[in-house]
Amino acid sequence: MARTEKKKDVVLVGFGWTGAIMGIELANEGLEVLALERGHDQDTVPNFQYPNMIDELKYGIRYGMMEKPANTTVTIRRSLDEEALPYRSLGTFLLGTGVGGAGTHWNGLNWRPMQSEYRLKSYVTEKFGAGVMTEDMTIQDYPMTYEELEPHFDRFEKVAGISGTAGNINGKIVEGGNPFEAPRSDEYPMPAMAAISFSGESARNSFHSVISITASAPCTASMAEPAKCSSAGITCRAWPGCGS
Ligand SMILES: Cc1cc2nc3c(=O)[nH]c(=O)nc-3n(C[C@H](O)[C@H](O)[C@H](O)COP(=O)(O)OP(=O)(O)OC[C@H]3O[C@@H](n4cnc5c(N)ncnc54)[C@H](O)[C@@H]3O)c2cc1C
Repeated sequence: MARTEKKKDVVLVGFGWTGAIMGIELANEGLEVLALERGHDQDTVPNFQYPNMIDELKYGIRYGMMEKPANTTVTIRRSLDEEALPYRSLGTFLLGTGVGGAGTHWNGLNWRPMQSEYRLKSYVTEKFGAGVMTEDMTIQDYPMTYEELEPHFDRFEKVAGISGTAGNINGKIVEGGNPFEAPRSDEYPMPAMAAISFSGESARNSFHSVISITASAPCTASMAEPAKCSSAGITCRAWPGCGS
């Protein structure tokens, strides 16, 4: 039933990662914030409490945490000539719903984009020539650079307590990290996860480090004190759909 709330300074529509981060930043500035979430309310306990949340039928098969396409969906087309049709059954692309949105069931991997990904059109043109792209390709450069966003990646990693080993700090390659990553201003706030063993020489050469939000050690830090973060107030739990 409709109810009337006291007037607020800001109303957020949707409460996933984006809404939550915006909400805390605005509230810290002294604004009154209200978040409207279309999905169900949920909290760590009881919703993600063991053993309820490893129910494979409910979550892995019936997509209990995802928005049903019958309620809301997106349309997809493979070329500009095609009529866009609604996505009717959930597959790889899954829409989050409920308090926390897709952040409650993400895989918890947190690689930074490469520098070239922000200027992909320019990069591909320089490397392979403009002719490699067909006319209907919608590939573009972003209006911002990796360097402009770097301080924000650094802050997010400290807020969320990301575990990993840096491979490139301010241009200096660091042993044990990913030597191909873009330059970072600082190390990860949490130590790397225990080594994963890959079989075969080519596999070993392909994997340099695993960057994950899954805490590698106990964690207690918060949004307010990310700099002190030896860990975070956010933890990733296994979701049966991805086997993580
Ligand atoms: C299975 C899965 C695994 C993933 N793994 C990773 C990963 O390992 N690493 C990574 O970086 N990213 C991963 N992602 C992506 C990441 O989770 C999302 O990019 C991120 O959570 C999006 O956050 P958001 O707040 O922008 O959107 P959402 O989480 O989608 O939040 C939007 C919220 O708005 C609500 N909403 C929508 N419309 C309305 C409306 N009209 N009124 C009210 N509420 C509304 C929705 O219910 C939802 O809760 C994964 C995503 C999925 C689905």
